[in-house]
Amino acid sequence: MFDEDISTPIVQLNDSILRNNQVQLFIKREDLTNRFISGNKYRKLKYNFIEARNRSCKTLLTFGGAFSNHIHAVAYAGSKFDFKTIGIIRGEESLPLNPTLSDANSYGMKLHYISRVKYREKYEESFIEKLETEFGKFYLIPEGGSNSLAVKGCTEIIKDVSVSFDHVCCACGTGGTIAGIISDLDGKHKIWGFPALKNGEFLMKDIKRLIFDYCNGAFNNWELITAYHFGGYAKYDYDLIQFINRFKIKHDIQLDPIYTGKLFYGIYDMIKNGFFKPGEKILAIHTGGIQGIRGFNKRFGNLIK
Ligand SMILES: *Cc1c(COP(=O)(O)O)cnc(C)c1O
Repeated sequence: MFDEDISTPIVQLNDSILRNNQVQLFIKREDLTNRFISGNKYRKLKYNFIEARNRSCKTLLTFGGAFSNHIHAVAYAGSKFDFKTIGIIRGEESLPLNPTLSDANSYGMKLHYISRVKYREKYEESFIEKLETEFGKFYLIPEGGSNSLAVKGCTEIIKDVSVSFDHVCCACGTGGTIAGIISDLDGKHKIWGFPALKNGEFLMKDIKRLIFDYCNGAFNNWELITAYHFGGYAKYDYDLIQFINRFKIKHDIQLDPIYTGKLFYGIYDMIKNGFFKPGEKILAIHTGGIQGIRGFNKRFGNLIK
């Protein structure tokens, strides 16, 4: 099963913007957790897979969009650890399959498409019952993997960080990852979440609930920075693309255009605007997502070099 303790490296970035503003920026390289189970998805799936095995469930069912890192990770982990997997995909089937779904399919995931309208009602009891009639008994992993067991897994993300820091910055989709980090830090430091979706404020209550469900606690040392969604999920502009491509050349670290590119763009913008004080240390989480670049490039024309 998932290795008990994986450790990922920390690297410190060095460039003139950081020097001029006298801040230090460290990256937790969660993108290096596993080549096929992308970044934070490794953390989010670990205890769900262990739970499914303990319940003797042989089939996992989950939800996601056509470019979902989560779908990709569940499909791969399922094939590796001998689970059948079913992916309920939002929207119409489009052939040929994009790289994410094509991989998922080749890992043995059964892809089942539902309309966007139906997708919104995916957690309704009657719909789940229908799925059970069609597919038999399964262990359900919610969209993006975010449940209490995912939060538990994400409390392990910065456990092995040995450098000191004042701020943690993390990209948000469904909020499970940051909920784990906030729970782990137990009121210490300041945590900033960067939603990749438009109108990310709605995540406040989701993150609070995820934290409460996990540890019965509530914390106020975290906030959302909602200014860097670039128009919404999978939306971008050429500034963002240029930032990602230059970042790669400068630091030899690949960012993805959906989550981590927006995160680092935001952090650098905030540094330039004097948001962080001289002498402060920022820890940014690279949550992975690199598999999504192939599909993004196919769709929008080889933007990410
Ligand atoms: C899924 C994903 C996220 C979002 O994680 P949540 O726990 O849903 O907030 C962030 N970054 C990357 C690269 C992801 O794949």
